[in-house]
Amino acid sequence: MNVKETLKKMTLQEKVQLCAGVSFWESKGFEQYDIPSFFMCDGPSGLRRQELGGDTDMLGINQSAPSTCFPASVTTSNTWDKDLLYQLGKALGEEARDQKVSVVLGPGVNIKRNPLCGRNFEYFSEDPIQAGILAAEYIKGMQSTGVGCSIKHFACNSQEKDRFSSDGVIDERTLREIYLKAFEIAVKTASPATVMSAYPKVNGVHCSDDKKLLNDILRKEWGFDGIVMTDWGGMNNRIEAMKAGNDLMMPGGSDYMEKDVIEAVKNGGLDEKDIDKCCERIIRLTLKAAEVLKEEYRADYAKHHDLAVEIAEKGAVLLKNKGSLLPLKQGKKILIVGSMAKDVRYQGAGSSHVNPKHLEQPIDYLKDYEYAEGCDERGDTDEDLLKEVERKAAEADAVVVFAGLPDRYESEGFDRDSMKMPEGHVQMIEAAAKANPNTAVVLLCGSPVECDWADDVKAVLYMGLAGEGAGKAVYDLLFGKANPSGKLSETWPYHYEDVISSSYYAKSRDALYMEGIYVGYRYYDKANIDVRWPYGYGLSYTKFELSDFDVRKNKVTVRVTNTGKRAGIETVQLYIGENDPKLHRPIRELKHFEKVDLKAGESKTVSFELNDSDFTVWDDSFKKVKGNYRIEVGTSSRDLCFSKNIKVNGEDVKVPKWQKDSWYETCKGVLSRTEWEKMLGRKYVPYKAVKGQYTMESSVEEMKEHSLIMKIMYKAVEKTIAKGFDGRIDYENPEFRMLMNASAGSPIRSIQISGGIKGGIFEGLVAMANGHYIQGILRMIKG
Ligand code: BGC
Repeated sequence: MNVKETLKKMTLQEKVQLCAGVSFWESKGFEQYDIPSFFMCDGPSGLRRQELGGDTDMLGINQSAPSTCFPASVTTSNTWDKDLLYQLGKALGEEARDQKVSVVLGPGVNIKRNPLCGRNFEYFSEDPIQAGILAAEYIKGMQSTGVGCSIKHFACNSQEKDRFSSDGVIDERTLREIYLKAFEIAVKTASPATVMSAYPKVNGVHCSDDKKLLNDILRKEWGFDGIVMTDWGGMNNRIEAMKAGNDLMMPGGSDYMEKDVIEAVKNGGLDEKDIDKCCERIIRLTLKAAEVLKEEYRADYAKHHDLAVEIAEKGAVLLKNKGSLLPLKQGKKILIVGSMAKDVRYQGAGSSHVNPKHLEQPIDYLKDYEYAEGCDERGDTDEDLLKEVERKAAEADAVVVFAGLPDRYESEGFDRDSMKMPEGHVQMIEAAAKANPNTAVVLLCGSPVECDWADDVKAVLYMGLAGEGAGKAVYDLLFGKANPSGKLSETWPYHYEDVISSSYYAKSRDALYMEGIYVGYRYYDKANIDVRWPYGYGLSYTKFELSDFDVRKNKVTVRVTNTGKRAGIETVQLYIGENDPKLHRPIRELKHFEKVDLKAGESKTVSFELNDSDFTVWDDSFKKVKGNYRIEVGTSSRDLCFSKNIKVNGEDVKVPKWQKDSWYETCKGVLSRTEWEKMLGRKYVPYKAVKGQYTMESSVEEMKEHSLIMKIMYKAVEKTIAKGFDGRIDYENPEFRMLMNASAGSPIRSIQISGGIKGGIFEGLVAMANGHYIQGILRMIKG
C-alpha cells in the first residue's frame, strides 16, 4: 500500500478516528482503504485477552481467555537470565498469535523506587540497566514472532497513589540516569513496536501530551519509529498529544475530543501534517500486524507451562539456608504450614491478571506430608490454628511455612500501607520456629516485606509471584530437584524507615523525587546502611568461587568454579564506581552481568566488554567523565570479591554550586526540601485541595472533605461499585479499592474523558463543590 496516497484519500475526520481505539482493545479499521484494525491485550506475564462484546476492563476484573500465567516480573527479573527473558517474550508472542492478538501491553519497566508501590511486582528492578537489558530481551523474543510489544508506562509511574493526577517532580539528571534509562536501553536495542504513555504528569506536563518526552527524547534522541499510545483513559489534551506524537488514544471514546481536534486543524491550532504522521505510523503497524496474523498459528501451551515452571525455579531466590536445611530429604517427617500452600499467591492483581491455563498448587505435590492451616486466606490466625502448628511442628523433622502477602495487600491501583506482612503470617512462622528449629519459610509476595522473623528460622526461599507453575517449582526447589539461582533485583531493607523516600513517598498527591539518583542500593551503599538482603544477592545449594580476575584494556575477565557437589548457576555482576568524584555519584552502579551454568567441579571464564556509556553521567547530555574508577566484580552488590582501579579519559563535567556539603554528597543526615529544590533548580509549590480553588484536576474523593455535593457523589459511586460485590462496600477487596480509586479517586477531568461528555455537568459539579451553587446549576443546564 502507498500510505501517503491512502492518506490523501481519507477525510480529516477519518484520520482523526484512525488515531483512537474503536473498542476497548481494538484500533479502528477502514475497509474502503484496506486499512485493517489491530487487536491488543494486556501482559506482561501472560495474555489477558477479553472478548469484544463481553465485559471488558482495564483492572483485571472480568474474565479473559485462558493463557499461560508466567511468573510476574518480580520473579522473571530475579532470574537475571537474558536468554530466559527472550524465551518468555517468544512464548507470549506465540500465544498472542494463537489468540489473534497483535500487540501485547508490556513489559513494564518503571523503576522500583519504593517497596510500597502497589505495582512493583509488575516491574523489573530498582536498577535501570538491569531493567533495560531484561526488557530488551523480552521484547526481542516477542517481536521475533511478529507480535509487537508496548513498553510501559512512559514515564515516572513508580507510584500508584493518585496515578491519574499526580505530578512527578524530578530533576533532569535523575530523570535521565534512573527513570528513563531502562526505556532508553530497550528502545535503542530492541525497537518495541509501541510505547505506552503513562497516566501521571512529569514536571507539570501530562505524559500523553509531553512533547519533550515523546518527541524530543523518545523519537529524536533515541530514534523510536513505532507508535505511542496512551494508557487506558490516559489522554489529556488530544491536540497537544498529536503535536507531541502520541499517535493512538486508547481505549477511544471521548468523541468531543475528535471535534476539538478537527476544530483545531480548521482554525490553525494544529497542523494536519501532525495527524498524518500519527496515521502513517498506525497504518504501518496495522498492515504488518494483519500480515502476521494471516496464517493460523497454534501455540504449544503444554510447553509454555514447562517454561513457566523453569522461570519460577530460576527466579526463586534462596535468601537464607543455615546448616543447609534445604534441600529437604525425601522420606523425612515434614510439616507443611499455611493456607497459601493450598491456595498459592502466584500473580498480582490488576490489568496484568491472567486466567491461568493450568494452575498447580504446592499442595498438589506435597499431599503426602502432614499439613496445618496456620491462618486463613486473609492472613488471619487464631489461638487454635497456632496451637495446631506448634503441636504438629514439635513432632516433625522439619517445617515448611508458606507465607507472604495475600492479594488484598498488594495490587495495581493503590500502594501498600506498610511493609509489614499480615500479623497472622508472622505469628504462624514464629509458632513453627518456636516448636521446631528446622523451619523453612517459602515467601510469596511481589515486593519486599519486613522479615524480623528471619533470624528465628533456618531457611527462606523467596518465590516472588511464581505463576501457574508455582506448585511444581516450589516442590522441585524444596527437595533439590532444582537448585535455586535467583538473585534479588531490589534491596530488602530491614524496615520501611530505612527506605530513603519513606517519609515522603505517597504522602501527598505529587511524587517528589527528592532522593534524586539515590534509589535502592545506590542509596544504601552511599549512606552505609545495613540491609536485610542486598541487591544482587541470592544463595545456591552449591558453592562458587571466583578467581583469575583481570582487566585488560576494555576487557574484564573472571573465572568461576563450581566448588560444590551439584550443578548450579551463578550470576556474575560487574559494578563501576568513580573514586573521589567531583560531581556527586553513587559508590557503584551495575553495568554488566552474565550467568554461568556449571556442573560440579566445572570452571568457566566470564568476560565483559567495557564501553563508553559505562562511565557517563547526565550533564545536559550523557558525558563520559574523566577520572579514576573502580571496576568491581562479584556475586552481589555487597559481595564484590575483586576490584581494580583504572584511569579513564573523558570530559570534565560541571559541578553545581549547591552540591557542596549537601545531602547528595554523602547521603547522610537529613534530606531537606530546601536542598532538593536547589538541585531541582526551582521552588516546589505543594498541591493542596482547597475549597474555592477546586478545578477539573480535583477528585471527588478530595473534594468530599469540604463539599456536601461531593460527599453525596462519593457515596453514590461507592454504592454503584458495591453492586458488583454483592452490595458490600469492601475496601479490603483489591478490586473494589482499585475501582474506587479509578473513579472517585481520579480527577474529574479523567471522568469527563471516559464519560465522553465535555463541559456542562462536570464543570457545574466542580463549581458547586467550590460553593458556587447557582453558577454550577447554570453551567450544568448550559452544558
Ligand atoms: C494500566 C495498563 C494497562 C491498561 C489496559 C491501565 O490501567 O495502567 O498497564 O495496560 O490499563 O488494561
